[in-house]
Amino acid sequence: MSRRVLSCIFAAALSAGCVCLPFGGNPNAGPATRPSPMGHGLREHRAVFHVHCHLSHDSEGTVEEIAAAARSLGIDTVILTDHYEPGNIARAPRGVIEGVLFLPGVEVRGAGGSVLAFPLQEDFAKGLSHEARLVELSRQGAVNVLGHVEEIEDWSLGPYAAFEVYNLHAEFKAASAWGIAWRFAFLPADAFFESSVRIPSANLATWDRELARGRRLAALAGHDAHQNVKVLGVTLGTYAELFRLFSNHVLAKERTVEAIAEGVRAGRTFFSFDFLGDATGFAVSYGSQGAPADGRAILGDDAPWRPEHTLDVLVPSGRGGGVAVRVLRDGVPCLETDARGLSAPLPGPGVYRVEVHAGGRLWIVGSPMYIKG
Ligand SMILES: [Zn+2]
Repeated sequence: MSRRVLSCIFAAALSAGCVCLPFGGNPNAGPATRPSPMGHGLREHRAVFHVHCHLSHDSEGTVEEIAAAARSLGIDTVILTDHYEPGNIARAPRGVIEGVLFLPGVEVRGAGGSVLAFPLQEDFAKGLSHEARLVELSRQGAVNVLGHVEEIEDWSLGPYAAFEVYNLHAEFKAASAWGIAWRFAFLPADAFFESSVRIPSANLATWDRELARGRRLAALAGHDAHQNVKVLGVTLGTYAELFRLFSNHVLAKERTVEAIAEGVRAGRTFFSFDFLGDATGFAVSYGSQGAPADGRAILGDDAPWRPEHTLDVLVPSGRGGGVAVRVLRDGVPCLETDARGLSAPLPGPGVYRVEVHAGGRLWIVGSPMYIKG
C-alpha cells in the first residue's frame, strides 16, 4: 500500500480520534500509596516505568507534563529510563517533584535488546562495552531490567533483577500498518490504544524460560512513553493516554527512591492493565492456612514447600465479572479458578506466578514466588 493512502487514512483517523476523544475508554483513577493486604508494613505504590523525558534525544516531554499526567491518574511514581548522554544523570529529576516521585534511570542498548537501569547516582563514560556498562550500573546499585526482550540475542549476561514482560512500543512495531490505521480511523483515542494491547505470549514464555534457568526476575510493564508522535500538529500517545493503560504496583514501606528500587529488586511487584479495572489490593501469599499476612511469604520471596501450606490469591473488586485466576508452576498452568480468590495447597516446589484474566484479556501479572524443596 502506498504511503499516500496510509497518510490519508491517518488524517481521517486523526479527525475521528479528536472528535470522539471525550467518549473513549474507561476511567482510571486507582488510588496509590495504600497499605497492601500482603502486609509486612508494605504500601502499594503505582509506578509508570520506561518513561523518556527531554533528556532523551527523541523526546521533548517535560518533567511537569509527566508529573501532571501521573497525578491525574492516581500514579505516584515515575521511573525514567532516558537514552544516555553524559550529564543526564546530574540533570535528571530525583525525588518528589510536584507530588510525584521520580527515579532517574537510563536505557542503553546491548545484547540486541536494552538494559533499563534505575536509580543511578552519577554519570559514567559513554563508550563502555555492554559488559563493562553492566558492571558500572551494578556498582551504582542500580536495578537492571531486561528490556525490549523480543530483540535480545545474548541471554548470557547479567546481573538482572527484573524483566520487561510488556512493552507498549513493541506492540505497535509488531502490528501491521493497515491494522493500526483502520483501528485509528474508527476508534476514539483511548479505545484505539486499548485495542492495541494484546497478551504478550512470547514475552511471558521467554520470562518463564529465564526463571526456569534459576534467574530471579520481577515483572514490570514498560510504557516506552516519549510523547513524540505528531500527526498534523497534534500529539498522539500523550503521557496521560499511555499511562492510563497500565501501571506497575510496587510494594515498599515508604515512597523514596531507595525503597521503590528495593521493592522492585526484591520482586515485590505486579502490573495491571488498568483500563480493564483497578487492580489495587491484589495479593498473593504462601504459608500456613489462616496465618496473619505478616506470617506468610509474598511476591518475590523464597519459601519452603510444605504439603499443608496454601497459596492464597486475592483478586480485588476493581473489575466486575468474567475473571479467571491462573497459577503457573515453572511456566505451566497448575491451578485455575473463575472465583475472585484462591486458597489451595501447591503440588510441590517450583517457581510460581499468578496471572488474572478479565473478559478473556490479561489483567494482572504478578512477580514470582520461589518455593523450595
Ligand atoms: Zn525506550
